[in-house]
Amino acid sequence: MSEPFPLAPSLWAATAAPAPETPPLAASGRADVVIVGGGYCGLSTALHLAERGIRAVVLEAREVGFGGSGRNGGQVIPGLKYDPADLVAKFGTERGERLARFAGGTADTVFDLIERHGMDVPHRRTGWIQGAHTEAGVREVEQRATQWAALGAPARVLDKAETDRLLGTERYLGGWLDGRGGAVQPLSYARGLARAAIGAGAAIHGGTPVTGLARTGSDWTVTTAQGAHLHTERVVLCTNGYTGALWPDLAQSVIAANSFQVATAPLSDNLRRSILPEGQVSSDTRKLLLYFRLDHTGRLLMGGRGPFREPRGPGDWAHLERIVGKLFPQLGAVTFAHRWCGRVAITRDFLPHLHEPAPGLLIDIGCQGRGVGLQSTMGRAIAAYIAEGDADALPLPITPLGRLPLHAFHRLYVSAVIAWYRLSDGGLR
Ligand SMILES: Cc1cc2nc3c(=O)[nH]c(=O)nc-3n(C[C@H](O)[C@H](O)[C@H](O)COP(=O)(O)OP(=O)(O)OC[C@H]3O[C@@H](n4cnc5c(N)ncnc54)[C@H](O)[C@@H]3O)c2cc1C
Repeated sequence: MSEPFPLAPSLWAATAAPAPETPPLAASGRADVVIVGGGYCGLSTALHLAERGIRAVVLEAREVGFGGSGRNGGQVIPGLKYDPADLVAKFGTERGERLARFAGGTADTVFDLIERHGMDVPHRRTGWIQGAHTEAGVREVEQRATQWAALGAPARVLDKAETDRLLGTERYLGGWLDGRGGAVQPLSYARGLARAAIGAGAAIHGGTPVTGLARTGSDWTVTTAQGAHLHTERVVLCTNGYTGALWPDLAQSVIAANSFQVATAPLSDNLRRSILPEGQVSSDTRKLLLYFRLDHTGRLLMGGRGPFREPRGPGDWAHLERIVGKLFPQLGAVTFAHRWCGRVAITRDFLPHLHEPAPGLLIDIGCQGRGVGLQSTMGRAIAAYIAEGDADALPLPITPLGRLPLHAFHRLYVSAVIAWYRLSDGGLR
């Protein structure tokens, strides 16, 4: 896989709270648990292990939040790609309902953690709106809102007029509002998690790529690029869309596709009041979904798919800039101050995957572009599983790790699918 796009041009890198000290691993030693990857999953696992008195060491190749966790849209959206009834149909009543409860609570985890640890993270909890771009989309969101409302969530259907007013665009036919959702500055949140984990007793080492995992008896040796190594009985791999060749077949078990974002300069007060005036965040029902929000300084962010490869220049974001003009013509000629992207790991069944390909090695991968709440909550569940040894602490069954068939051709396949979805999603592209 080619070198990932740098974190630095992102809006978040330009506006984040300072990072805690995370020096590279300098000396070999022993840890209760070694976690590979310093995103939400790895950091939340470390924090929740440390709170249980289990000493975790996080090894991160670059810096905390270098992956999806420092680059995302900062939309805190509960739920999975499947609605509660789909989960029950897929997993049976007991596990399906448990999974729906887990998924429904993922936004709570984020806002509770920010509160409990007094994190320096701009955030607000004014809800998530999913706009429907077709009549089929309207029926889809009505069902979704009805199912979550029946489970007690503050969810309601929006008619066309209210959707127009709350989004600040007339391009949607309706939508639903999920009051559990909200917004965070995602890199500040990753750094806040890291600070909280260190405060609770975890160690975090940035600039420390893990290059090898070897098992002797019940012990793992985790080797790093600098040469220092750690011995441990438990390893957790949380490398998600930034997974390399560390474990056989893992990178080939997902499609790691880039999602692209642009952000304007801060808008005038008048324009600010014309887009998402009540402060919600939003994404839509398109297969190649568009997601947009204002940040805490009044910049408009727009995200969506781009080329499958790493970007080559500003032209790779031009489609998103055109979409901003079509959705929000009131902006007129607007300046885009930031363009960036990040990798999202997509699994074949659109569910996150947990694997245990060898004793003491747990892998979490694949959050389909909705991981702020999910991975924060998954980390807590992984910590409970490690501490209690009970697989019921995990929201999903542990499944065998397998390559996607013909993975090498997926790049071509995904590019073709993207082109097809662009046509079938219609309208804005
Ligand atoms: C552009 C974009 C927009 C998104 N928007 C949203 C959104 O609005 N809402 C939402 O809920 N979700 C969103 N997501 C998804 C969300 O960001 C991710 O699901 C989540 O951040 C994944 O967290 P993670 O900890 O699993 O992985 P990551 O944050 O990707 O962390 C993986 C880490 O592993 C490290 N690593 C990899 N290999 C090694 C190694 N060998 N040794 C050491 N370290 C290694 C990487 O450097 C990286 O820091 C978006 C994602 C992207 C990319």
